Amino acid sequence: QEKDYQFMLRTKNPGGLVPPQLYLALDKLSDEYGNHTLRATTRQGFQLHGILKKNLKTAIATIVKNLGSTLGACGDINRNVMAPPVPWKNRPEYQYAWEYAQNVADLLSPQTGAYYEIWLDGEKAISAEESPEVKAARQRDTNGTLISNTEEPIYGTYYMPRKFKVSVTVPGDNSIDLYSQDLTLVVITNEKGELEGFNVFAGGGLGRTHNKEETFARLADPIGYVDKADVYEIVKAIVATQRDYGDRTDRRHARLKYLLHDWGVEKFRAKVEEYFGKAIAPSKELPEFKYHDFLGWHEQGDGKLFFGLSIDNGRVKDEGSFQLKTALREIVEQFNLPIRLTAHQNLIFYEIAPADKAAIQDLLDRRGVISDPSKIARLERLAMACPALPTCGLAITESERAIPGILERIGTVLDKVGLQNEEFVVRMTGCPNGCARPYMAELAFVGSAPESYQVWLGGSPNQTRLAQPYMERLHHNDIETQLEPIFVYFKQAKTAEESFGDFCDRVGFDAIREFAANYTTQ
Ligand code: SF4
Repeated sequence: QEKDYQFMLRTKNPGGLVPPQLYLALDKLSDEYGNHTLRATTRQGFQLHGILKKNLKTAIATIVKNLGSTLGACGDINRNVMAPPVPWKNRPEYQYAWEYAQNVADLLSPQTGAYYEIWLDGEKAISAEESPEVKAARQRDTNGTLISNTEEPIYGTYYMPRKFKVSVTVPGDNSIDLYSQDLTLVVITNEKGELEGFNVFAGGGLGRTHNKEETFARLADPIGYVDKADVYEIVKAIVATQRDYGDRTDRRHARLKYLLHDWGVEKFRAKVEEYFGKAIAPSKELPEFKYHDFLGWHEQGDGKLFFGLSIDNGRVKDEGSFQLKTALREIVEQFNLPIRLTAHQNLIFYEIAPADKAAIQDLLDRRGVISDPSKIARLERLAMACPALPTCGLAITESERAIPGILERIGTVLDKVGLQNEEFVVRMTGCPNGCARPYMAELAFVGSAPESYQVWLGGSPNQTRLAQPYMERLHHNDIETQLEPIFVYFKQAKTAEESFGDFCDRVGFDAIREFAANYTTQ
């Protein structure tokens, strides 16, 4: 008799789009075959946990038949393509970001029929038609190197050396952690709001391994600018460069970031240009990137409303009087609203008729869901944690289950030292793989041993700078004693408006350690 193997299923939702029909199907699947929860991921998808092997086929087929997919949500292939989740209808650049996130996802979707043969008995998906432009781009050769004779014109016989992560965003919007992606396209429009082209960034990535210095988190570099007519060609050229030159001998050194690191930007750009068939233009000037969470009620720019809801660590569940899962299902059932998942494990309902606002608000209140972002518990609004134990096989220690208590304790220390109103980005993961992007946080805990974490400090509030490892192993019992001196130093020496991460980066770890060494707990 076969063991009851359990699986995690992850959906692929370009730009975080979850149509109402798909949401209801996922909600039902989680009850019928999963652990009665859904988890919004940090890449704008949903995970279902606890699916037994014997139920996998039914679950995947149900997802596909309800306008979803799991194809390419895992594996050595392009993963879910991210885009800012906000539906600003009066800002065309945001609409282009959604459109191109979908198109790049289609372009880099594996063409093999195996997925449908295995999970749907050969039945093809009833998904939306991809654009003819994208279809043509997939088949089109640039200079003879991209098209292979296999059924995979872009990936060829061996697919990618490692996973590949793409995002599309707009100038100034870093709601998708663009510096952590293998490839990011930034929409460039003219003063009339028409699409002109894209700035291209490449070589970001966060996964690393403890005590292996050859593995590291890295920020993406600006590569240049391409006209809109060339966008699919540049994506193909970068994918082909990584496909052909990424390290296939060592999985720990296989991501695109190592190619950028080993070659440098100039050599990388020159190689990409060989595939691209022409020179890449210099990048267009961009404003500073900021992090936005889009929580609460907003007008979406065309008279309708959107509503951003914070979900603690992305976990959609019912627990006692907190009935988030029921509330979301009821909202989708009654108002038929589409959802955009955010890169911060939250969600946005949009296309809301203003007349429905009161009823939706009432429904959330009755189900015990906090909908006013100003009422979210201290530090929680900006925090993220990966699932870790008990569902992730790679976890070294707790993350999702530990972070609420740890945030509370950090809040108590901040209160004690007189930083009552201080907020900053805290992220936690159960292992150095970094699924909750800890290395971009102002304060991060990265599981390094049971109940212990490596501590990272110095990322920026807008996720534009890497944090650095401050302490190799902190037992969770010592959080107060280790953090209190740092917070006191921060309070004494910060400049006006300086955030915690910016402060740590400015003063440096030597100064922090020296202060801590001379500090006596008050
Ligand atoms: Fe698992 Fe590590 Fe990812 Fe957390 S960061 S979900 S522990 S692989």
